[in-house]
Amino acid sequence: MQSSELSKFRVNQTGYAAGLPVHVAVADGSAVCLWDAEGNLIRKIVPEPASMDTASGDRVTLLDLGTLSEGTYTLESGSEKRCITVQKQPWEAVTAALIKGLYYQRCGCALEKKYAGVYVHPACHTAAAVDWEDRSVCLQVTGGWHDAGDYGKYTGPGAVTVAHMLYAWKLFPQGCPDALNIPETGNGVPDILNEARYELEWLLKMQRADGAFHHKLTKARFAPFIMPQEDCEKEYLMPMSHCATGAACACLALASRVYRAYDTAFADRMLASALRAWKWLDTHPGFVPFQNPEGVRTGQYGDNSDRDERFWAACELLAATGEERFRKSAEELYAEGQSLTHFGWADVGGMGAMCCLFELQEKAGDTLYSQLRQDFLQQSEEALSFSQASGYGTALPAERYIWGSILPILSNAMAMILNTQLTGRQDMLAGALLQWDYALGMNALDICFVTGFGERRILHPHHRPSGSDGIDAPVPGLISGGPNKRFPYQVTREKLGEGTPAAKYFLDETPSADTNEIAIYWNSPAIFTAAYFHMLSLKG
Ligand SMILES: [Zn+2]
Repeated sequence: MQSSELSKFRVNQTGYAAGLPVHVAVADGSAVCLWDAEGNLIRKIVPEPASMDTASGDRVTLLDLGTLSEGTYTLESGSEKRCITVQKQPWEAVTAALIKGLYYQRCGCALEKKYAGVYVHPACHTAAAVDWEDRSVCLQVTGGWHDAGDYGKYTGPGAVTVAHMLYAWKLFPQGCPDALNIPETGNGVPDILNEARYELEWLLKMQRADGAFHHKLTKARFAPFIMPQEDCEKEYLMPMSHCATGAACACLALASRVYRAYDTAFADRMLASALRAWKWLDTHPGFVPFQNPEGVRTGQYGDNSDRDERFWAACELLAATGEERFRKSAEELYAEGQSLTHFGWADVGGMGAMCCLFELQEKAGDTLYSQLRQDFLQQSEEALSFSQASGYGTALPAERYIWGSILPILSNAMAMILNTQLTGRQDMLAGALLQWDYALGMNALDICFVTGFGERRILHPHHRPSGSDGIDAPVPGLISGGPNKRFPYQVTREKLGEGTPAAKYFLDETPSADTNEIAIYWNSPAIFTAAYFHMLSLKG
């Protein structure tokens, strides 16, 4: 149910955890009363004067309510009231849904009623793919996840998505809900790993005989808004790219360690693939950015450097093999300068940092552990300073609301979480939690960005199945990219105008890929963040 009047309170619409800090945002500076369910006044707060939040244009105050015990509370200011709930484990359902969101993106298989409920469809994209550069070559490359609102499958973004999930499981295993009701549930492997394996099996098929990885498997153009099984245009294996090869190499080396406890043969296959990819990278040092071939209009996922992909790959291979040659490569690449707090599909230096700090640790040696740790702690201060400069606590300056602004916001949450893991700093923990609160409703739009959750929820994501299945509610557990004032469509500009602030440059409308698309690599940093806070709530 959407109300047209926005509340003066902005809250995490999925609730708060008992034992963790509770933040709410309130417009203007008037006093706020906090009542419990029995009508007892818990606290009267006279906020700091509201300050102007540049990104949203709102005058807003962030209230720190400290920790609250389990229960339902009412916030009251003047004639306005809004309820918040505090629970022991408020985020189990949303964490599980974010992981299962990827199940609904599965390609090449039918989504069956017993797992998918109403969101069933027959198998899609099962025909052989044609090599774009040699049309005489036809290969079965089925499987993997549809990337986003479209039906393409892209190597680098897929590899990064899997890696976020594997690290969520490695670092916060108790925070990853199991028994997700997917086809593999109950097979003795945690479901987050079962789901990630669906993509890994496809990723292995994207490698060429020479070790390089195809950049993507897509049609020449995006499909119209039809169900996946109706999308029968020819799929092409597009040319290889350095970045895709580096990201796949890193992801497979990481996965070889994670799955070794469950399936040695699968682990060996992934490590062999990663080593072949590394050999190719080693013998092809010159970087060539990927560009869509003439006549191809699907996602380009361009990048201007492969140094961060190579760095991440060298770290993961060092962890997988212990071989000195990978330490040497990782140290050399590190010496060039790496951004250690970026975890997105294009900038993966943070993934290499995560491997050094939490996997290799002292075994990484002075440069890749002691020095890198110091550099990471210093670089991660930026995320906290962004959060502290924002009225809503959102770790994104006004001018950085790009296409998929949820990614830098959650990437900054990841940086703050990792800082907390290293230092125990509570200000970093609270900063990270504000990003989770943002995703779930404590934002200028008063919208919960995860489909299926929140009293004011996303109803019309740019997602082909949700837009063409004839079911009102969108596929659940998918996170919207959110406001984008940097690269909006012309039609979005016409609707919102230049005067709309960046954090409100958003349309909950199906055609608005620029503000309301979903993507697997936005779900995955949300899974990482969710798993961390769900784990903390279990301890609380
Ligand atoms: Zn498909």
